[in-house]
Amino acid sequence: MAEMIYYNDQLKSTSTHIECPKCQALTSTNVEVKNTKTTHIIAGIMCLFCMCLCAWLPYTINDCRSVRHYCQRCNRYVGNYRGNYRFC
Ligand SMILES: [Zn+2]
Repeated sequence: MAEMIYYNDQLKSTSTHIECPKCQALTSTNVEVKNTKTTHIIAGIMCLFCMCLCAWLPYTINDCRSVRHYCQRCNRYVGNYRGNYRFC
């Protein structure tokens, strides 16, 4: 049986209120934000277009990054948010 996890339509780029699929607690999630390949690509593109001063921006926008959600109660992984931008 596949492990039940949450997906983009249920998760946000920040801490989200969920019913934990593992411990069934109504709680919020802890988030762990990771830079993806696309984060670096966007930063590179911004550099190319002489926006070096803005190249750090993708690193601060959660929508351009991968956000892993963990249950605050049992600390287990419940899902991954990949951002609103399809190319991310
Ligand atoms: Zn839990």
